[in-house]
Amino acid sequence: MNEQMNQVLRTPSNYLQGINITLDLSNVLELSEDAKILIIVDTYTMKDYRQRIEKSLDTAQMFEFVVFEGLLTMERLEVIVKEHEELDYDMVLGFGGGTIMDVAKAVSTLLQTTVVLVPSIASTDGPCSRLSAIYHEDGGFSHYMVREQSPEYVIVDLYILSLAPVRTFIAGIGDALSTYVEANACYLSMSVNDAGGLDTFSSLMIARSCKEIIFEDAVDAVKSLQEKMITPSFKRMIEANIYLSGIGFESGGLSIAHALHNGLTKLRSERRFMHGEVIAYTTLVQLATENSHEFTQYRDLCLQLGLPTKLADFGLTLDEKVKTIIEQTCFFEGSSMYHVPYEISPEIVFQAMEFVEKRI
Ligand SMILES: [Zn+2]
Repeated sequence: MNEQMNQVLRTPSNYLQGINITLDLSNVLELSEDAKILIIVDTYTMKDYRQRIEKSLDTAQMFEFVVFEGLLTMERLEVIVKEHEELDYDMVLGFGGGTIMDVAKAVSTLLQTTVVLVPSIASTDGPCSRLSAIYHEDGGFSHYMVREQSPEYVIVDLYILSLAPVRTFIAGIGDALSTYVEANACYLSMSVNDAGGLDTFSSLMIARSCKEIIFEDAVDAVKSLQEKMITPSFKRMIEANIYLSGIGFESGGLSIAHALHNGLTKLRSERRFMHGEVIAYTTLVQLATENSHEFTQYRDLCLQLGLPTKLADFGLTLDEKVKTIIEQTCFFEGSSMYHVPYEISPEIVFQAMEFVEKRI
């Protein structure tokens, strides 16, 4: 049936990357004098970059800040929209971490405005996609809210990202590591991608470039960041984390790694883990389900970068309780768990998880 579907590739309208590009947002965004902007920030970006943003947007007619912390739930989203729907904003600008990107996309969808995304960390590939992850109050994943259009602007400031915590950058590499594995599984199984159609060959090649950059540049890029240096490998890795991985996952599609991640978020572990840290591990599980000869190569890179490679790294064991939650939350009609060109079942995933756990 899928053969009849269109092939769809979606990208942001504008992707701009540069050192201190956020010093001149009025020009970069070609702001008109009557522009009204709702700016969504987290406490860090509010503290560190408020003055920079105000100065950079000084040609706008008005702007207002919303400081957002915690998880994005439908209840919290509705509160923001209700408080701001009267003012007729032209633009929602998100400046912050992964959650802020999702909040800005979701708010702009409901307020029907342009969205501008300025990531302050490169921890996920969210900025280039239309999706916002919505959570339940208890922290469990609820659903994705999908914007009609891809973001109008993604503005990547290499200076700001060179000051970001190393852990967030490595988590972004973990997220990007899944991109080709999942896109390739979707391509081969003709599964529906998150852009609303079948994969194009171009999106598969974008995902492949993402993988190539990771294996070529990740280790050196992390070293650059530790030394706060903006090197060519750092620039390429930023592009891979944010752009290639973003296009690659949305227009390439998700598969086991993200489905299993969404199940694992229902489990309580003592330490809080970042999205990309969980994805690094679930990517290894996906590779194990397909008996990939590249498993060791991926696992070794994760070890080198300090990314989790076992369930034990999360303080969890594959007991009956964990198995039940995975079975209940990952295996349902429409789950990306089935986006593979081979048979998949809870037993096959558990076997793969056991294999991953035993590898030294
Ligand atoms: Zn992801």
